[in-house]
Amino acid sequence: MPLRPESASDLLIDGKLTPGSGGVFDVVNPATEEVIGQAAEATAADMDAAIAAARTAFDTTDWSRDHAFRARCLRQLRDALLAHADEFRELTIAEVGCPSFLTHGPQFEGPVTDLGYFADLAESYEWTRDLGTAKPMGIKNHRELRSEAIGVVGAITPWNFPHQINFAKIGPALAAGCTVVLKPAPDTPWCAALVGKVVAEETDFPPGVLNIVTSTDHRLGEQLSTDPRVDLVSFTGSTATGKKVMAAASESLKKVFLELGGKSAFIVLDDADIGSACAMAAFNVVTHAGQGCAITTRLVVPRTALDEAITATRDALAGLPAGDPTSSGTICGPLISERQRQRVESYIELAKQEGGTIEIGGGRPNDKPKGFFVEPTLISGLDNSARVAQEEIFGPVLVIIAHDGDDDAIRIANDSPYGLSGMVYGTDEDRINKVVNGVRTGTMGVNGGIWYSADVPFGGYKQSGIGREMGVAGFEEYLETKAVARPA
Ligand code: NAD
Repeated sequence: MPLRPESASDLLIDGKLTPGSGGVFDVVNPATEEVIGQAAEATAADMDAAIAAARTAFDTTDWSRDHAFRARCLRQLRDALLAHADEFRELTIAEVGCPSFLTHGPQFEGPVTDLGYFADLAESYEWTRDLGTAKPMGIKNHRELRSEAIGVVGAITPWNFPHQINFAKIGPALAAGCTVVLKPAPDTPWCAALVGKVVAEETDFPPGVLNIVTSTDHRLGEQLSTDPRVDLVSFTGSTATGKKVMAAASESLKKVFLELGGKSAFIVLDDADIGSACAMAAFNVVTHAGQGCAITTRLVVPRTALDEAITATRDALAGLPAGDPTSSGTICGPLISERQRQRVESYIELAKQEGGTIEIGGGRPNDKPKGFFVEPTLISGLDNSARVAQEEIFGPVLVIIAHDGDDDAIRIANDSPYGLSGMVYGTDEDRINKVVNGVRTGTMGVNGGIWYSADVPFGGYKQSGIGREMGVAGFEEYLETKAVARPA
């Protein structure tokens, strides 16, 4: 059955597609500002029903123990979603404003394909480990460890890479044997709701195993964080909201998994090819208009090559203008909303007030009267203490900062409340390794290296989060460990 916008105006609760008790809310195309359809507006009562369904499915079915069945359901979902790839691509670009090329990667096909990785893990994981015998208190015992699903997972996600983040939570959580209530961001409800439709109509997932609740009401996220029937909250979003989720979850002492903000440094050493390094830094920051938590937004270059680096970066940005996301050549699309554009513009104003120079961009593109576009922007003349170098902007805005050698570059990278990602460009392996070891972040690229993959754990140090998503480590976030002993 073809997926259309009207297919996305239901919640998925207890295996049934149901309208939201609060009616519907508008979905806006960020590239055109047009209302392109509606999504279901859930209320607290809908969320309560979703949590109840997830709890019942976990407590009363074999879902958490039947590893082969879960693997089969996940592969079935992957195949059904990929069969709808063209419809998903179109609706995702319309809803998220993401450039079309990204839907062949992290904005759709990548994370959907990765469901197969988590299905494989459900089957191949060592669910029971023999610890052999020991003599605690002089009595010989045989011990084993059993891994078990943690229970009901509340998944709360943002709008920037909705498929990637939704599947990086529901994939491992379901593979581990948990049941899930997913609450996507109000800006991108369709990406989740359409998955709900496919789950309900084209897969064998038992009722209540996966529930999807769309709403504009952030309090539904709070409800997931506080409800004692939820065993783990898996949250991706801003650091400010992550702190609220953690505080709310403490009341029922549930496990919290947090993927938060970033302000990652792109370090160029003095033996690097400045031109190619700056071209890559420019490409990174305009990708999806800079709306990525792991995007490198501070370009840290040798002071001796500062002018050369500014020129190279400015030239590269000039060749990467904001454009129509449906076009295959576009790298930089619109921001998600007017609210987000105003936030980005206020940071550009702040940079000027702080004494920064706008080397290129800084405004709205003249050829785009509609859509929440901002020009790719380079800010120079500030050091790392400037607010635009410390705070997450979440737009196509790069701040260039001079360093006085490798140690100083590491110091600047680490002078941040965040620790999510980073990049280093250079030629000397020892110097590169010193930087990789010195920068306190969850991921690092070297000379353009891309770490993103289903088997690579992703997450942050410091205020960028707690825990790891993806990979075996990401799967194990959704497990409890039970130790069992018997006299031998
Ligand atoms: P946000 O924090 O405003 O919202 C994220 C989600 O939390 C939404 O679903 C929202 O409805 C919900 N929410 C809001 N208030 C809540 C509350 N009090 N309790 C529970 N849930 C609540 O973030 P956003 O603006 O949607 O996304 C952008 C942010 O996400 C950026 O800071 C970005 O760095 C971060 N992000 C991080 C990662 C990562 O993996 N580290 C990935 C993508 C985005």
